Amino acid sequence: MSSKPLPKHAPVVVIGGGIMGCSTLYHLAKMGVSDAILLERNQLTSGTTWHSAAQVRALRHSRNLTRMIQYSVELYGQLEKETGQAAGWIQKGSLSIATNPDRLVHIKRQEALARAYGIPAHSITAGEAKERWPLMNAEDVLGAVWSPDDGRVSPSDVCAALVKGARSYGAKLFEKTGVTAILTENGRVRGVETTNGTVMCDAIALCTGLWSREAGAMAGAEVPLLACEHFYLLTKPVDGITGNTPTLSDHDNHLYIRDDSGGLLVGCFEPMGKPIAPGVLTESFEFGLLPEDWDHFEPMMMNALHRLPALETAEVKMLLNGPESFTPDGTFMLGETVETKGLFLGCGMNSVGVAAGGGAGMNLAHTIIHGAPAYDLSEADAKRFAPVFNSVEHLMARAPEVLGTHYDIAYPGKQFKTARNLRKLPLDEEYRAAGAHLGQFFGWERPLYFGKDREPVLKFGRPDWFENVRREVMAAHERAAIFDASPFGKIEVEGPDAEPFLLKVCAGYVGRKPGSVIYTAILNERGTFESDITVQRLSETHYRLFVGTNAIKKDLTWFSRHAEGFDVSLTDSTETYAVLGLMGPESGRIAAAVGASELNGIGYFKHGEAHIAGRHVRAARLSYVGEAGWEITCRSENTRAIFKALTEAGATPAGLFAQTAMRVEKGFCAMGHELDSDVTPVETGLDAMTRKSGGFIGAEVIAERKMAGAVSRIVSLTFDDDAAVPLGHEPLLMAGDVAGQTSTCAYGYRVGRPIALAHVDRPLETGSVIDVDIAGNLFKATVTNGPLFDPEGIRMRPS
Ligand SMILES: Cc1cc2nc3c(=O)[nH]c(=O)nc-3n(C[C@H](O)[C@H](O)[C@H](O)COP(=O)(O)OP(=O)(O)OC[C@H]3O[C@@H](n4cnc5c(N)ncnc54)[C@H](O)[C@@H]3O)c2cc1C
Repeated sequence: MSSKPLPKHAPVVVIGGGIMGCSTLYHLAKMGVSDAILLERNQLTSGTTWHSAAQVRALRHSRNLTRMIQYSVELYGQLEKETGQAAGWIQKGSLSIATNPDRLVHIKRQEALARAYGIPAHSITAGEAKERWPLMNAEDVLGAVWSPDDGRVSPSDVCAALVKGARSYGAKLFEKTGVTAILTENGRVRGVETTNGTVMCDAIALCTGLWSREAGAMAGAEVPLLACEHFYLLTKPVDGITGNTPTLSDHDNHLYIRDDSGGLLVGCFEPMGKPIAPGVLTESFEFGLLPEDWDHFEPMMMNALHRLPALETAEVKMLLNGPESFTPDGTFMLGETVETKGLFLGCGMNSVGVAAGGGAGMNLAHTIIHGAPAYDLSEADAKRFAPVFNSVEHLMARAPEVLGTHYDIAYPGKQFKTARNLRKLPLDEEYRAAGAHLGQFFGWERPLYFGKDREPVLKFGRPDWFENVRREVMAAHERAAIFDASPFGKIEVEGPDAEPFLLKVCAGYVGRKPGSVIYTAILNERGTFESDITVQRLSETHYRLFVGTNAIKKDLTWFSRHAEGFDVSLTDSTETYAVLGLMGPESGRIAAAVGASELNGIGYFKHGEAHIAGRHVRAARLSYVGEAGWEITCRSENTRAIFKALTEAGATPAGLFAQTAMRVEKGFCAMGHELDSDVTPVETGLDAMTRKSGGFIGAEVIAERKMAGAVSRIVSLTFDDDAAVPLGHEPLLMAGDVAGQTSTCAYGYRVGRPIALAHVDRPLETGSVIDVDIAGNLFKATVTNGPLFDPEGIRMRPS
């Protein structure tokens, strides 16, 4: 028990004294919440942090994760100067080697991204790699990327420095103070009960590492993560290791390697980890370790012996086995929970907690204080997981696979194998019979493409499914295809205040008559995107909203939290309704053939009712793919009969890859790609859909942006070289200067070239030619401001 008395109230209570808690406390205090407190039930770092290998590598797959780690690098490098406490920052660089051509592509893609964001990284030969790591067997090394700014810290020292810094700003730390209950009132955090008394508070940062699922449950919040065993070998001093080495990443062999006290530290992310059931590690697991498991480590030991022949004679000190938590998709969780206002997650660090901790703690503090991270971190949004993923059974299956994929090559289209078939579409059987290759989205199994005759070979070049997708695109372009949009989240907004409520939360005009369809942005106070949705007005007092598949939890929470003062009810009807997009020039004929010729009378951005195969449908005239058609909503139980009628009349099922390819040709932006909380509709060419009269959340910012002369920074690109395979996140260069980044990429089957949508940081005229850095190779692409494929009469948005 702590000897210091706890305060009666603290604005923010940080729970957990690992790297995440310490970094969050430091940043809260530095940003002005000087009376924040941290509660740790044992001692600082005694959970996972103390035994971390603590490497900090900046090479990541996305712009903002790269920025976040870059922030950690800068923070760790200056903490000693700021606090007087050494952080043990050793900046010896890191070396990522490739022993197969795809790995080389993978690391060169990361190199291009790092350089684009000002992080030094460059390719070197196998010989140069060997010079930097003389003990390495480089016979099979094809090449490497050298990142001189990477390093490592002493995890306990960095935490001590962060806490010292936090204290200097007024924050307080209480060790030996376990949180035993989270107090809530009306769905909001009110305080915590601890082994040392009660503290009332306005917000909680839950930084409880692998115990976060149980800690979140104290407030009824879902925190889907699970610990796995994680191993590294430590040897006694080895000849040839003098001083500190760079970190050696041999990811093809699942290994990371560095010096440790004159010996070697060899860690691994083996292909399938060992999960630890909840409850096995209790609070008594203080500075704890798990038993060595040589049988499990043996294949990794063989890999290590191949890479480091000197290991053969090295004396083993120990095989360290420590627990670390993993989430269902391998990315951490940061942000407020759906279930409890004021409860913020900073956990599930997936083995990069020390590297990410500096930047993640800063962003968590920023979220608590300002309501959002310093930049878009949707990929880490705590609300992105379907509730089904909080099940222990699914976490026990998925977490070990996630550990095993930590060093995987980031092939496009890669899917997890475990915890599948959690949510099936009404047409699941039909799709499997048609050879659908399925991908998992918010737990749903969605067809990516059809006609699969074997598992696709994953690669960076032209994909195995290239011709399958062409067939589907051409079906939609020349005849008619069915795109299944059933996993869209659906929200019924009902009540006398439905219209005024939606006028407040939607930037578009939702006051049109019943029968109208509106595509609209949902903006935050900063005028940037929270979401983009389609709204159908069913009656004066009833609207149906269609939101992104992964966005249902997030959007429903957003709407609920802004509904105060309005007489409306919000209901999640996602599973009640299915949505089939019937698209293509023969859609009209097919509608007539299935007895629904009324559909042909529905105007653009209008919806109307009909019957198909005797089942009631509501069809909305709009298109996401640049071909005429309807999004047809029906009750889920009627989907099979309707699908049968449509296919018998000549429509072909098409998958998500075809839809994306067609969307990019049509220049339509999508959340998480072109649209996110870093951009407003003005920079994405969507300001025409915001109301000039204002009155919606974010309106003032939009007006200011327009006044300031901001213009769209989204362009379409057409590659000269038909063999180019852009995948997204590639830097754009103008005369060698970074000018932007690709967002969604595809092959444009209707335009006959590889294509992309891209963010640019300057106006570029249609016809300008830029270079796109794809894994170190420059490809010429021509800029178009607007869609690449725009048949007359096909419009997504009302004019
Ligand atoms: C072997 C190994 C090697 C690793 N190597 C690296 C690496 O090289 N680079 C890298 O970036 N990452 C690495 N990691 C991962 C990294 O160490 C973790 O991601 C990170 O330490 C997690 O920090 P945390 O703050 O989230 O959790 P923890 O450090 O576990 O902290 C959580 C704290 O919460 C406390 N707590 C729990 N419940 C309560 C409660 N009810 N009340 C009060 N306190 C509570 C616990 O006592 C604990 O101290 C490694 C992990 C392992 C296991």
